Amino acid sequence: MEKQKAARNQTEILRLLPSVETLLSSETSQKIVSETGANYLTQLARAAINVVRTEISKNGNNLNAESFSRENLLSKAENNLESTWQKEKNSKLKKVINATGVVIHTNLGRAPLSENARTALIENVCGYCSLEYDIETGKRGKRGAYAEKILAELVGAESALIVNNCAAAAVLVLTALCKNGEAIISRGELVEIGGDFRVPDVMEQSGAILREVGTTNRTKISDYKNAINEQTKMLVKVHPSNYKIIGFTSVPNVRELAELAAQNEIIFYEDAGSGAIFDLSEYGLSDEPIIEKSIADGADVVTFSADKLLGSAQAGLIVGKKEIIEKLRKHPLYRVLRVSKLIYAALEATLESFRRSTQFEEIPVLRMLSITNEKLQEKTEKFAANLRGKIGENSKLKFEIIEGNSVVGGGSAPAFQPVTTLLSICHEEFSVNELEENLRFSEPAVAARILDDKVLLDLRTVSENEENELLEILTKI
Ligand SMILES: *Cc1c(COP(=O)(O)O)cnc(C)c1O
Repeated sequence: MEKQKAARNQTEILRLLPSVETLLSSETSQKIVSETGANYLTQLARAAINVVRTEISKNGNNLNAESFSRENLLSKAENNLESTWQKEKNSKLKKVINATGVVIHTNLGRAPLSENARTALIENVCGYCSLEYDIETGKRGKRGAYAEKILAELVGAESALIVNNCAAAAVLVLTALCKNGEAIISRGELVEIGGDFRVPDVMEQSGAILREVGTTNRTKISDYKNAINEQTKMLVKVHPSNYKIIGFTSVPNVRELAELAAQNEIIFYEDAGSGAIFDLSEYGLSDEPIIEKSIADGADVVTFSADKLLGSAQAGLIVGKKEIIEKLRKHPLYRVLRVSKLIYAALEATLESFRRSTQFEEIPVLRMLSITNEKLQEKTEKFAANLRGKIGENSKLKFEIIEGNSVVGGGSAPAFQPVTTLLSICHEEFSVNELEENLRFSEPAVAARILDDKVLLDLRTVSENEENELLEILTKI
């Protein structure tokens, strides 16, 4: 008896479910149809109704038919539809205000572009452009020539080539120059960078035969020398980037390795990773290889990323001897790994800042890393005063200014954590996790740090333009 009644209840409830047509003509559907398109909305609507149906079927025996109506089932379906669409929209690329203080934040797209780079992208290359067209002659031109020229000149190299990222650059160098030959590398440099770039795997993939020498903490020039044989094509030096061995350590420098390679008529290749175009030790970044110096010290070919300390779009930069660069350019893999007009536009603009020596004013990554803590303190105090003015004394949002550390990120300078000024915030009604989530779900999204029951905002990585947006977001919480 009970069972039969339950089954009848369930059937009755299911009969109240909205049809796809009804849901499609609801207010919610009308609101989002211009974004989803009619076809996809129908698909979403079907799925939203199915969710309600499944819920009812699962709990059917315990439900009371009286408490259900067409209206409340429709509104359940509408809610499902809206939240699914919202979730999907959040999975799109969205603007994020980076208040984490991690300057080269890989999850947030690494380096933000300079104003010049943004303008160049929008104005010069979104339509047709002179990518492979020589304005002077009206004939076919050389792709990337301008960016390559500035890059080579900046670091004092004979020539340069640009590919998709530094991993691609390493694969191209090893494949084109060392396939089936031995590459000698220190055991201390067989590192993993950012989860999916493992030096031994990259070497194997490119057909180079890995010849490990030395130990994790110490490798001598004689270790390389003793390992050289007829099969040796290359000496490789990889910057360990995201980790640092301290204490009883030593590795030969670039000059020693370059000399040894030259004596044996083999190539010396350095993967500098982040790489600094110029010396940044004045700003605390003393462990990064200086590309200009590596070239001057005789490296045959050097690779580094364009979206780490260089502060541009994702690309892999290869600089070195003309003969080597031309060999790379002619290799079929180059065609696979080359970059688009969008990347060249961003790179040209960024490299021009270096050429004008205005990089510390114009390139966000360098501006953020070179700002003094006094300036940051000033910036944060001004921001806090504006926030106080907006939310008043009695707001449930509480904040104070504290001292802390920022992080360079992007696998660069792991030991360097510049002192910073932080805005520590909490809310009387929300837990720290809820507060952080509130920020993440705002428009634009705000990425913050959580530490010891406080949400921390580091304005080092928030640009002046974004400060007002952040202020508005905090005011609304
Ligand atoms: C970051 C890094 C890479 C990978 O660079 P991507 O541009 O992310 O491909 C390779 N080698 C070193 C030493 C690095 O630091």
